[in-house]
Amino acid sequence: MTLDEILKEIEKAQSIVILTHESPDGDAIGSSLALKFMIEKLDKKVDVIIPEYSRLFDFLPSVEEIKEESEIKNYDLAISVDCATFKRMAKREYFDKANKTIVIDHHGSNNMYGDLNYVNPVSPSCCEILAGMIQYFEIDITKEIGICIMTGIITDTGGFRHQGINPETFEFTAELIRKGVNIPEIYKKTLRTTTKANFELTKRVMNRMEFFEEGKIAFTYITSEDEKEVCAEPGDHEGLVNIGMDIEGVEVSIFIRQKDEENAYKISLRSFDKINVSDICLMFGGGGHPRAAGALVQGDVEQVKQKVIKEVRKAL
Ligand code: 5GP
Ligand code: MN
Repeated sequence: MTLDEILKEIEKAQSIVILTHESPDGDAIGSSLALKFMIEKLDKKVDVIIPEYSRLFDFLPSVEEIKEESEIKNYDLAISVDCATFKRMAKREYFDKANKTIVIDHHGSNNMYGDLNYVNPVSPSCCEILAGMIQYFEIDITKEIGICIMTGIITDTGGFRHQGINPETFEFTAELIRKGVNIPEIYKKTLRTTTKANFELTKRVMNRMEFFEEGKIAFTYITSEDEKEVCAEPGDHEGLVNIGMDIEGVEVSIFIRQKDEENAYKISLRSFDKINVSDICLMFGGGGHPRAAGALVQGDVEQVKQKVIKEVRKAL
């Protein structure tokens, strides 16, 4: 599908809603707000519905306009950003009831669940796709749009560290600096600031870190009990999976987190160039990117650990 078709749908719609995945990260919330600004530039009214997100994102422009719910139930147009599957979408009932739906995403595992699907798995962040759209639509890139887009680029690339960054990433970043976007400030607010609860969870995750296959696999976990004890809020577990990646020799980092005191764990996998963790997570009904993926796996810590390590071992 083409960008012209997307533009036509936006221009036609009287009511528009933007949605993203649950537990939104910087790319999810940055894309949502960047798209909101873009659509407003086209003289259209638009709602962003995100029921909960980390207060670390409170610095984003217009974040106070994000809604938890809406009086409108049947939007003309619903657009999802950074969301690979319908199942992962927060407040998906608004998507379900919309007359027309558009999916804008960068996950290779996206299953094209919209009426129109604009998916580029090569893009390192959904925000970068939006950056391309802005240029195509000839919308002026304001400082506000720049901050939102930069937040997605910085968080999804781990601060320009992950595979997938390309010349366009830096060209666009250079343009944003010229617009007055303060990259070190966004970097500090998104990647270098942790909440107290995240710090307390980090200590537990480090203490429990185990290694397998001569140090190629790192494994660690947190339970619902841990989160209660440190008074964790939404988003406080973000980034914990990366700790294992910083250790010499580790090729796959596994972090599992108990789901709401249930007998199930949300698994998060990260890898460098060799292992495709998206393939592994697909086997458990999840998905993601080759180097960053997740899924929900039934069982207690020990059972989930054994199941996941078994599959990672096979892939090594
Ligand atoms: P995280 O480990 O940070 O939760 O997720 C890493 C990546 O995998 C994200 O891009 C996310 O969209 C994807 N992902 C995580 N969990 C799931 C899941 O349960 N299903 C699918 N399809 N993708 C997931
Ligand atoms: Mn993303």
